Amino acid sequence: MTKIIFKDAKITKPEDNQPEQVKKIFPYISPVREGDIVAIKIHPGEYGNTTHVRPVVVRTVVDLVIEAGGIPFVTDTTTLYKGMKLNAADLIKGAAMNGFTHASMNAPIIVADGLRGGDGKEIRINGEALESITVASAIAEADSMIVISHGKGHPASGFGGAVKHLGMGCLDRAGKIKVHEVGKPSIDPEKCIQCGDCVEVCPWGAITPPEIDHSKCCGELSCADACQQEAIIPPPDAPEKMQKRLGEAALGPIKALKGRIGYINWVYDLTPGCDCFNFSGETFVEDIGILAGSDPVAIDAATLDLINERMKPDAKSINHVWGVNPWVHIEAAEKIGCGKRKYEFGN
Ligand code: SF4
Ligand code: SF4
Repeated sequence: MTKIIFKDAKITKPEDNQPEQVKKIFPYISPVREGDIVAIKIHPGEYGNTTHVRPVVVRTVVDLVIEAGGIPFVTDTTTLYKGMKLNAADLIKGAAMNGFTHASMNAPIIVADGLRGGDGKEIRINGEALESITVASAIAEADSMIVISHGKGHPASGFGGAVKHLGMGCLDRAGKIKVHEVGKPSIDPEKCIQCGDCVEVCPWGAITPPEIDHSKCCGELSCADACQQEAIIPPPDAPEKMQKRLGEAALGPIKALKGRIGYINWVYDLTPGCDCFNFSGETFVEDIGILAGSDPVAIDAATLDLINERMKPDAKSINHVWGVNPWVHIEAAEKIGCGKRKYEFGN
């Protein structure tokens, strides 16, 4: 059974602070060999989001990778939605605003999928929904990787952790489109008041209300979030299909790196929305702590179990946050061979 290391957020001593906890867990999950070029995958948070993983946690991992003989770089990929990560130049500028710089982390930031997200490597995964997926090149070409994920809610997948970080955050633009394209929405002309809010947020110029040009749309659904009239409607089976694709796509980076990946789930500041939101909402459960392991399915299963355990007194689970069952993408990841849900806590 996979071992997951857990360090509780309930601490009272300085020797248990987050950098110290990361130092204790690192030897159990480090895939780093002498001379490895090591990707450290993070999400630096949108501008306005203040609950993303903290730079000092990343700095600690960087220093540990160097100590282990690796050559670290901190990495992220561009997005499909409009925001500070739509291209590599804005991503690096936005990351600096949130405190992620070469100076603060002791490693350079490399945007893994190039200037506009077009730099990827196709990996065959033979899934039920996806035969192949394109992984961001700098990640696919690294020798090993540490994925540092902020455990939190997510409107599309219910929860965002290690599996979502692999199956979305490690892909290039074409890969992200493959996961999202099942969501291409349409507009209900009877509800649409022609306000134009959806046109503003659409990164791909796909909307002329009440029409959406599906040859331009990638299905990322910023428009549906922006429409106050609830006039933008994705296909009814889109949420489940998207989660299944997400879980399958997670195998891409694992295959590209031949499994040489360690996972850290930083489970503090559990906001309903993900770090791509340009604000931080009220948290829905108390801080949990830091989890670490070598299996993305097991670490997410353990994280979800801990979250649900701490929500129990309110007779709630994470499924209540968005009305979305996050186990759909975790189970799809298990089914395609990313890992196993069964785990035991150790150390
Ligand atoms: S945001 Fe909604 S109401 Fe406004 S133009 Fe778009 S579809 Fe119509
Ligand atoms: S039409 Fe909507 S879902 Fe499609 S790309 Fe534009 S904002 Fe995204």
